[in-house]
Amino acid sequence: MAGSLKARSPGLERPDSIIRKTIHHMGSVCEKKYYMHWVLWHWPEIVGEFIARNTSPQGIRKATLYIYSDNSSLRNELQMMMPQIVQSVNNYAGQKMIDKVAFTKQWEKSDSEGIDEIRLAPSANEENMGRERQKIPLSPAEMQAAEVLGAVAEDEEVGRAVSNLYRKHLQMQKLKISRSYPQCPQCGRLMEPEESLCAECSRSRREKITASVRQVLRDMPWARYPEVKQYVPECTTKMVNEQRSIMVQKLAADTDVNDKTSIKAKTLVMLYRCLPPEQLNEDNITRALYALRFDMHRPKDYKAPRRYEVIRLGRR
Ligand SMILES: [Zn+2]
Repeated sequence: MAGSLKARSPGLERPDSIIRKTIHHMGSVCEKKYYMHWVLWHWPEIVGEFIARNTSPQGIRKATLYIYSDNSSLRNELQMMMPQIVQSVNNYAGQKMIDKVAFTKQWEKSDSEGIDEIRLAPSANEENMGRERQKIPLSPAEMQAAEVLGAVAEDEEVGRAVSNLYRKHLQMQKLKISRSYPQCPQCGRLMEPEESLCAECSRSRREKITASVRQVLRDMPWARYPEVKQYVPECTTKMVNEQRSIMVQKLAADTDVNDKTSIKAKTLVMLYRCLPPEQLNEDNITRALYALRFDMHRPKDYKAPRRYEVIRLGRR
């Protein structure tokens, strides 16, 4: 029970309930990240000053906490203490967050979402983001938001801790913004400085564009890039080519290799050769389908004809 915690002296309050309350109010999306922040912000308190000075946590992935240390005797020491470290981290987080600790090189760059933020945790050699965070001013509205959050707690002390935690979170956000982590103009998520949209938004944008490209190619299989662009201004040549070849593959796999007359076969040729219907003739249909013969649906006993059997010599 949150109300019954023995949180009478600072530093001894149980973070588990504080965190749970905070997280509860911040929504589950933040949850995981927030636990990670919590642990990595408090690394020195978890493992003690000496270990903290000689190690730097790199991040948490799939229940493994990755630590870098260039002190080999300390690494051996820590290897033996693994179970205790795991337990301390989990105790600190108030939930089972990791099940092992591994040593790693210093990570150059994060390869998954959230790791960047974890890496903001203070480490011995890097500049101390935590210290800088403390200098970030919060607006009256932000302070108010933190108070409101804390006021929900039954226990006064817990309430203060919750407000405090939330202020830290806000300061960290602002620090990152001030460090040129721009916000995604679409969803507001913080993103890599050189991007114009966050990874999520740019993926869904791309998906929308390519779906429109396919729609245009379904309606006008012969359309080339400039024509497609009239309908889908954001598309690129590469996108049109990629979507065309995906559609060619699919349609070919669905068309019988001996079929040269159906609408499907003709559509395939229009798509593949960018030929409008009025330019189709027996010769270009034959040639195009011959080129696609290995992509098309073939009956079991199919033997690929020789080229001269299909395409007569002396013609274009
Ligand atoms: Zn976004």
